[in-house]
Amino acid sequence: MSYVGPDFEPPRPPRHPLRGPLIVAVGALVPGALVGWLVWQAVGDSDEGRDGSAAAQTSASASAPSSVLPAPSDDGKEQTGGGAGQSGGGEEPGSSAPAGSGSLQGKVVVIDPGHNPGNFRHPSDINRKVNIGTNWKECDTTGTSTNAGYTEAEFTLDVSHRLRTILKKAGATVKFTQDGDRAWGPCVDERAEIGNKAEADAVVSIHADGSAAGNRGFHVILPGSVHSGAADTRPIVASSRDLGERVAGGFLRTTGGPPSNYIGDGTGLDVRTDLGGLNLSTVPKVFIECGNMRDTKDVSRLTSGAWRQKAAQGISEGIVSFLRG
Ligand SMILES: [Zn+2]
Repeated sequence: MSYVGPDFEPPRPPRHPLRGPLIVAVGALVPGALVGWLVWQAVGDSDEGRDGSAAAQTSASASAPSSVLPAPSDDGKEQTGGGAGQSGGGEEPGSSAPAGSGSLQGKVVVIDPGHNPGNFRHPSDINRKVNIGTNWKECDTTGTSTNAGYTEAEFTLDVSHRLRTILKKAGATVKFTQDGDRAWGPCVDERAEIGNKAEADAVVSIHADGSAAGNRGFHVILPGSVHSGAADTRPIVASSRDLGERVAGGFLRTTGGPPSNYIGDGTGLDVRTDLGGLNLSTVPKVFIECGNMRDTKDVSRLTSGAWRQKAAQGISEGIVSFLRG
């Protein structure tokens, strides 16, 4: 399934005559929206000094390249600054939000803000092993943080709030797995169960990665096919891939990327069979790692409220596209 959307225009870099066959081959192998990215990479690699943000500006026809984003706020305190008057807090915690009057009426979206800000204080609880079908795994983890102390848990809640606001306006019923309104958790098995019990039409788990500096960019994690114990993802593999490709495409369009340079071979997609939150899901579900909290370029984005708004917008566009079919 291509996730080239109506407002996506491929980049128009100068073509290198020797690159044609490679471009064609790549285009045949990867999902649509990322083809433009790869084409740019294929033809633009004579510019050895470029960095990812420059590439993103060129490749993704983003509405706002990174250079026009506000200066980064690296102190972990920046909370607002997002577009459209969005706030990271103050909405009803943890509960279902009433559906609005938009086109997604009757659709249920579960947003899973990865980790809980309180997990740090409950190591024995979150280290308890839970059965994920294929294996036993820790209930949850603390998540990562920037070197300056802006936590993944704080980031994911903020993006999730922004995403909820957008989806509610579109008419969806939105439910959170947690909203910082409980001491810790939930465990990954319960996170999956919340989506299942809600009979969600789509579930997206929001994360940021904690990889080595220099590793950067986003990737969407899709469930691989597993059938073991309580885990049986076979019925949701295809629909989750559709959802994930659309989310990746939306995210690329609104943020300008880049797709991960360390996972997914430039596709912005990864498939995993070791995540309980995916293995135990019976409804279409993906994770998104929005960037790397240990890379300074990514941190300048992740700590920007304006960028987080673009991130939420992109994720929402993918969800809406999936739900409309
Ligand atoms: Zn995480």
